[in-house]
Amino acid sequence: MTGMRRKPASTVSMDPAPEQLPLPARPVSQPVEPPLAALLELTHRCPLQCPYCSNPLELERVQSELSTEEWCRTISELAMLGALQVHFSGGEPTVRQDLVDLVRHARDVGFYTNLITSGAAITRQRFLALIDAGLDHVQISFQDAEPNSAVRISHVPNIQEKKLTFASWVRESGTPLTVNAVIHRQNIEHIDAMIELAVSLHANRLEVAHVQYYGWALANRAALMPSRAQLDFVTERVTEARERYRGKLVIDYVVPDYYAHQPKACMGGWGRQFLNITPSGKVLPCHAAETIPGMQFASVREQSLADIWAHGEAFQRFRGTDWMPEPCRSCDQREIDWGGCRCQALAITGNAAAADPACAKSDWHAAMQEIAATAVDAPSLPDFRYRRMGAGKH
Ligand code: SF4
Ligand code: SF4
Repeated sequence: MTGMRRKPASTVSMDPAPEQLPLPARPVSQPVEPPLAALLELTHRCPLQCPYCSNPLELERVQSELSTEEWCRTISELAMLGALQVHFSGGEPTVRQDLVDLVRHARDVGFYTNLITSGAAITRQRFLALIDAGLDHVQISFQDAEPNSAVRISHVPNIQEKKLTFASWVRESGTPLTVNAVIHRQNIEHIDAMIELAVSLHANRLEVAHVQYYGWALANRAALMPSRAQLDFVTERVTEARERYRGKLVIDYVVPDYYAHQPKACMGGWGRQFLNITPSGKVLPCHAAETIPGMQFASVREQSLADIWAHGEAFQRFRGTDWMPEPCRSCDQREIDWGGCRCQALAITGNAAAADPACAKSDWHAAMQEIAATAVDAPSLPDFRYRRMGAGKH
């Protein structure tokens, strides 16, 4: 690691990891509100190999996963902390044989429960057991509306058939359904079909989410980045569909930061509303926080969740506004977007404490847009680097 800051260059390297700067001193601990929700990454195992997966490049192995008892204790601690929702996620959470027990426990201690799944690794019998245990909501991710493309992106044969079958069980059970359509350069032309897919599945909500470039997506950025014209096309189609399906389907739309001028309030602000627990029990302020070198992540195996949330070094590091340098420090948006995304600041500038380069006030804003333009203008489309154990090492 070096203390030298790279200047924004007119031509920016496509390497995903620029040199990294030391983190700022840890601000003083202050009283904090309870989290609203927690994302429980029960496992990193997954039958799919999506090249934009938000899991880390170094996936945690099954031997390190929390036991049923440890997850139940953690869920109870979350309830005592005052959180309201738990999202069972992964990897693919349904590969955990104890998922029904975990959902039942979460409902017993008062949580609203959501299952975030590919729908590709569960039988009808187990799904009905989850409903019986009190599961409140299901979110299914779709790689594409076009089956051959979905197979290519997920790297799993017959994936669409499995997902559609699972979605039909969700519909029959009357459980609220969100369809998550992850959009990128290689499926963006199918946006209309993806909207129609959500309608045909009787989804309550459709989340059209452009890829966010951390982890595997950052490694595959040149293969996934849409052009400005493609982005405008999707924005227009989503706007039109919102009108057409008003009162029938809610459509959320997440635009790619590389074409934005204002950053998102990442995670609703670092350490303000959400926490993420990895399969082995590390507690993160956001799912990509492990990309920031030098951070210490406490584990629910060693410390109480209440203590980690209130005093954990990783949560304190970028909580509130005291850590902010200029231009954020004196900006009137600092308690609205909280300086944007720390992981994106790191990925583009090499400094996790910099303003998010999606912000027009960042010195790196033009460089970020140039990265997108360079990726789109590349003479050939790179092959996907598929997400799997051990594939993040090179
Ligand atoms: S993004 Fe794809 S590979 Fe990653 S956990 Fe979800 S379904 Fe599995
Ligand atoms: S300067 Fe910082 S706080 Fe202001 S809009 Fe940009 S990222 Fe947000």
